[in-house]
Amino acid sequence: MSYQSIMKNISIHDRVFEALKKAHDVQPKLNAMVSFIDPTSQLEALKPKDNTLPLYGIPVVLKDLVNMKDTITTGSSKILANYVSPYDATIVKKLKEAGAIIIGKASCDTFGMGGTNKTAATGPVYNPYDLSRMSGGSSGGSAVLVASGVVPMAIGTDTGDSVRKPAAYSGIVGIKPTYGRISRYGIIPYASSLDHVGFFTNNVLDAALTLEILAGRDDLDMTSSQRPVEKYTEACVGNVSGQRFGIISNVTDAIQNKQTMRQFDDLCQKLKDQGAIITKIHLNDDLMKAMLPTYYVIANAEATANHSNLDSLRFGVQVEGKDNEAIMMASRTEGFGPLLRKRFVIGSYALFTENQEIIFRKAQKVRRLIVEDVQKALSSVDCLIAPASGNGAPLIEDSQIDLLSSEYLVAENYMAFGNFSGYPSMTVPFGFDGILPLGVNLTCRPFEEGRMLNLAQGIEDLTGLKDLICEVKP
Ligand code: GLN
Repeated sequence: MSYQSIMKNISIHDRVFEALKKAHDVQPKLNAMVSFIDPTSQLEALKPKDNTLPLYGIPVVLKDLVNMKDTITTGSSKILANYVSPYDATIVKKLKEAGAIIIGKASCDTFGMGGTNKTAATGPVYNPYDLSRMSGGSSGGSAVLVASGVVPMAIGTDTGDSVRKPAAYSGIVGIKPTYGRISRYGIIPYASSLDHVGFFTNNVLDAALTLEILAGRDDLDMTSSQRPVEKYTEACVGNVSGQRFGIISNVTDAIQNKQTMRQFDDLCQKLKDQGAIITKIHLNDDLMKAMLPTYYVIANAEATANHSNLDSLRFGVQVEGKDNEAIMMASRTEGFGPLLRKRFVIGSYALFTENQEIIFRKAQKVRRLIVEDVQKALSSVDCLIAPASGNGAPLIEDSQIDLLSSEYLVAENYMAFGNFSGYPSMTVPFGFDGILPLGVNLTCRPFEEGRMLNLAQGIEDLTGLKDLICEVKP
């Protein structure tokens, strides 16, 4: 559903309550929501004279990591199952000021740590295109609520690819702008040097409009950028002529699925026909293969530190114990699932004094080399492009992955380079693997969101794949 189509419903009350009803109706099938928010007071706060606001009466959902005053924010964890946010995240303030109505919190991998959405405390999220398949994660609930036409926009976060991957699996647009472009104040952190706010829409123009609203300096987030926000909607004209695309051949070489590659090649040919300049870029193979292990060291080390405040003493679900240490130990053991505990062990191990140099610092050096390689590539082309994954969404029960293959290490996990570098990166639909949507990823130079959105618009115009909705029968 696009902003334009939802605005056809004249009454904002009807729009919002229809979305809320639909969210309830599809819940037994998709399991995408963690909590619902009564929109009445938000609707009352909007006045008819506000009808020129860009998101006037648009229903949206937040990933369950985003604080909104007086609402439950669990991070899709057990340990924060009872946590009520005492304040609004900056993006929540901005959404409200733009007229949006927040109707609930969407499921994610616990604290954003995962790529499947299978680790959420409320269970997996199901892909509307095939309910036996995953949404992808970690922002899976947000993705499928947009894909199934419940809301036209949903907020996610992206630390490794958590907006871009589920967007690809759901046939929608998923974007994370440059690091610092959108304030992270009020969002439960995962790995602060990699975390980005991102979001999902059904088309590129809605993404451009949303970015205009969310972007900008926030004194409450010292990592947020002072750069003025551009008119992204004006940049979004779809002109690809003379624009230089670099196909990441490490990724395309690693993809086994012929159907994916045929459609990707077709897209590149169409871009060429429109006057785009298409070349191949081969990034350093060793660095590409090192991406995922490097990511795990850095992300988990930062997560260990960030989540040390979840001790259940000040807030969160508390398990009984004879003293504070026993309470903390029991609550954390109970409150974090096995995957999180594994990640905390990896993170802590990398930070042991005797390991810091050979693991943590080494990972940081590899990160720097990867960023330099990407930066060099983006000095000869305007945009790096490749399928966001080789295949459509995997089966929920799928365990047949060769974790050391190039297909997995490179084709399925390269998008973390956008987090290592902080460069803007987005996925748009470009085809289908059977009935499952496929997305193509674009990554541009820092703060070139305008250019990236224009190129994405060009791709959307060429494929005609916009406003795809996969209706789910309740
Ligand atoms: N799949 C990656 C992870 O498990 C990325 C998650 C994310 O971007 N939040 O850490």
